Amino acid sequence: MADGNSLDAFVKGKLDALEKRALRRVLVETARGPAAAAARDGKRLVSFCCNDYLNLSQSDRVKEAAKAAIDAYGAGSGASRHITGNHPLYTELETRLARLKETEDCVVFGSGYLANLGIISALVGVGDVIFADELSHSCLMMGARLSYAKTHIFRHNDMAHLTALLEEHRKDGRHAMILTDGVFSMDGDLAPVQDMAALARRHDAWLMTDDAHGIGVVADGKGSSFVGGAKADVPLQMGTLSKAVGGYGGYLCASRAVCDFIRTRARTLIYTTGLPPAAVAAAIAAIDIIESDKALTRRPVEKAKRFTRALNLPDPESPIVPVLLDDAQVTLEASKMLEAEGFLVTGIRPPTVPEGTARLRITFTAEHEDADIDRLAAIIRERIMPRKAAE
Ligand SMILES: *Cc1c(COP(=O)(O)O)cnc(C)c1O
Repeated sequence: MADGNSLDAFVKGKLDALEKRALRRVLVETARGPAAAAARDGKRLVSFCCNDYLNLSQSDRVKEAAKAAIDAYGAGSGASRHITGNHPLYTELETRLARLKETEDCVVFGSGYLANLGIISALVGVGDVIFADELSHSCLMMGARLSYAKTHIFRHNDMAHLTALLEEHRKDGRHAMILTDGVFSMDGDLAPVQDMAALARRHDAWLMTDDAHGIGVVADGKGSSFVGGAKADVPLQMGTLSKAVGGYGGYLCASRAVCDFIRTRARTLIYTTGLPPAAVAAAIAAIDIIESDKALTRRPVEKAKRFTRALNLPDPESPIVPVLLDDAQVTLEASKMLEAEGFLVTGIRPPTVPEGTARLRITFTAEHEDADIDRLAAIIRERIMPRKAAE
């Protein structure tokens, strides 16, 4: 067909099919701030779905740091970090992140997604093997695919299954990686990082944790490798600057040798423009706050606990609390009802979560008001949970 209509026909067919299954996604204009406030269609809402756990995106100190960096260095970075984009703020941020994570060195990327694509595909390839938790974030899975290493998926947090796969398949690869979220993004639970570190050592596999939801809010802000007090032996601690850190960017904290290698081999660092100076300066200011205010880093989980206790749910391990409703349409309707009540709680549907596990993913921030948490819990207890129980 010469007129190109097969393209539009194709995507319209796909969109219609998604719509029928309540799986189509559309972007909704939403203004944010201050604190956990949001506004849609002129209506003020309290957001319980944002990853800005410490509300640092709205912090005056962080915003001032970003503005000062624009005045000093400009709005953009001009090129890849290897060309002229490696502006003077990078070294400071990388030094600060390495200190927080107790590693020799750190490399900052354009985003967490880019970090995972670049790190995994630089470290392993054809002839290597990967073992990944089934609930690992999309960008760990896509990094694994991009690497061409043979990938084995283990059941969520199931160390017996991981052990069995390592015993059977570790020998198939020259090198091996184990990939997991440190804090699972849609469930809020923690990976058993200490056990995984021991398994990784025993099988000579390189453990990489994605701590996107750990930094700033777990273990006094140091993240999932530090839960329980002792530092777990995780040679590859990756994470994002886009959630509790409040800005934008990704990072890998690791040994000096690994970071040197990543700087010279990770395509998503080399062939993409460096972060704008403002993003790097904002992250430095935010890390300052995280390092100096431990009470602040504990508050999101305390707020989450207030919510779970009100609903008789198990105590949370992170600021993320899922309320499983299973069905995508039911989840969308629950989200709409909450919005009418003044709460922004976006429904999470497949393929972000496995088929049949659609949910409300409720996240808590340091500045949520207790009264709002209590009212949200009451509405969920009275109007959402009974419906689920009756199914
Ligand atoms: C959000 C997220 C990422 C991606 O980080 P960005 O900086 O937003 O690209 C990676 N991993 C996990 C587990 C996440 O939740």
